[in-house]
Amino acid sequence: MAVQTGDDSKPELVICEHCDSVYQRSPLPAGAVARCLQCGAELYRNRRVDLDTMLALTVTSMIVMAIANAYPVVWMDLGGQSRSVTLWGAVLSSYDAGVGLVAVVSAACIFLMPLLQIAVLIYVLVPLRAGRVPQYFASAMHALRRMQPWSMVEVFLLGILVSAVKLAADAAISPGIGLWGFALLTYLLTLITSYDLHELWDLAAEEQS
Ligand SMILES: [Zn+2]
Repeated sequence: MAVQTGDDSKPELVICEHCDSVYQRSPLPAGAVARCLQCGAELYRNRRVDLDTMLALTVTSMIVMAIANAYPVVWMDLGGQSRSVTLWGAVLSSYDAGVGLVAVVSAACIFLMPLLQIAVLIYVLVPLRAGRVPQYFASAMHALRRMQPWSMVEVFLLGILVSAVKLAADAAISPGIGLWGFALLTYLLTLITSYDLHELWDLAAEEQS
C-alpha cells in the first residue's frame, strides 16, 4: 500500500508502539531519530535524504546538460577565422580521424551515461517524493549503481583544458557557453552522486511497509 508521508499529514502527537507513551512531535535535525524516553523504541526519524533538493538538483542537471551539449565548448581563432567546437563536433571529428572507438567510448562516458543517470534518478525520485515506490525500483537502483563509474564528465572537462592549453600556442582560444555548462554539470553530478543511495532503499522499504 502506498502511504502518504507529506509533512501536512503527520499528526502532532506520537504514540510509542511499544509502551503507549504519548509525545508531542518536534522537528529533528537531519538524520536524527526520536526515541521513546520510557522504553527506547524508535518513534520517528528525520530522513537524511531531502528528496526535494535532490530532485531539484537532478532536474537542473538535465537542463545544464542540454545547454552544455548544444553550445560551443571553445572558440578558436585561426588566423582571423573564428571556429567553434562543440562536444559533438569533437566526437565526430575523432570518428572521422579514424579513432572511432575513442569517439564512441567518450560519447558514452560524457553524454549517454550522465543522461541515463539523470533520467533514472528522476524516474525514482518523482514517485518517492509523492510517497509511492516506482515500478522496477530495485532494477533502477542497481542500474544507477552500475552506471556511476562510467559517468565521466570531469575527465572530459580535464581533456578540454589540456587541449586548450596545448592549442593556445597556435590559436587564440576562448571558452564557450558549453565549457561553463560542463563545469557546472560536473559540480552538479558530483553533488547528486554524493547522496547515499541506501537512504533511498530505506525510504522505499518504509513506503512499502
Ligand atoms: Zn515506549
